[in-house]
Amino acid sequence: MNIQTIGIIGAGQMGNGIAQVFATAGLNVIMHDINEAAVRGGIATVTANLDRALAKSKITAEDKQATLSRIVGSVELSGLAEADFVIEAATENLELKQSLLKSVDALIKPGTIVATNTSSISITRLAAHMSHPEQFIGLHFFNPVPVMALVEVVRGMQTSDETVAVSQELAKKAGKSPILVKNSPGFVVNRLLVPMINEAVLALQEGLAAAEEIDAGMKLGANHPIGPLALADLIGLDTCLAIMEVFYRDFNDPKYRPATLLREMVDAGYLGRKTKRGFYQY
Ligand code: NAD
Repeated sequence: MNIQTIGIIGAGQMGNGIAQVFATAGLNVIMHDINEAAVRGGIATVTANLDRALAKSKITAEDKQATLSRIVGSVELSGLAEADFVIEAATENLELKQSLLKSVDALIKPGTIVATNTSSISITRLAAHMSHPEQFIGLHFFNPVPVMALVEVVRGMQTSDETVAVSQELAKKAGKSPILVKNSPGFVVNRLLVPMINEAVLALQEGLAAAEEIDAGMKLGANHPIGPLALADLIGLDTCLAIMEVFYRDFNDPKYRPATLLREMVDAGYLGRKTKRGFYQY
């Protein structure tokens, strides 16, 4: 399959990062958002990222111009009719994604693969709304997209082998290292990472050790680059809680119950770095 043009839905944090990596790889990108300010903001973010790379001599001024010239912003969803591969990276909301995908389904060229960057919604469930569920897949990028090497290629129950193969190749083309994962809540990385963070909060709650000691333990004893509580502050405690709630509900297993301290901190509005207070003060 000859993929020249990537359609991206959502110009937010993830959408503009995905646009940047594909444009850098030499593909054309149509970046759609319903919000015109978001389209402008997305392009401004890519420009700022490229300016930083230019200042560090990682790219040339020509590279920067060439990359930017390959990204077209659009507030019209119909622009995606030109795309050979579509990646949905809009707000994390089931109804919104279902309705968007229905509209996308009606306008794409035959054979176009549609991927979603969702973190928590079932790929199988979203695929069921497409007229070609075998051409639907999860492509789960990590934040910040230009920096993080991983993409989880998430196979729904209906996803075909060809869709998987094309998506793996495309992720590699964007300079990423894909891992193949079956559809399941949290896929692989969040499934392992977020319960570990929750366990660290339980350890703190039980008075096992102070936050600094828990984090130092995992840095020095398990070679983690950042401790679990500092990482929770970076991700956002509200996001960590929301992910644990999805696991608890979808697996129906008490081992995923969120730590009461995590819920208490979220109730207090102590969400981590973004509110300048979480397990640490910023
Ligand atoms: P964001 O809020 O930064 O961006 C979402 C964008 O979607 C906004 O610009 C918004 O205007 C746009 N949007 C909303 N409704 C739309 C519609 N109907 N049509 C077109 N655009 C619409 O969010 P984000 O962090 O970029 O997350 C996007 C997706 O990526 C979510 O599904 C999220 O779960 C997933 N994700 C996020 C992260 C992360 O760390 N932020 C990591 C992996 C995956």
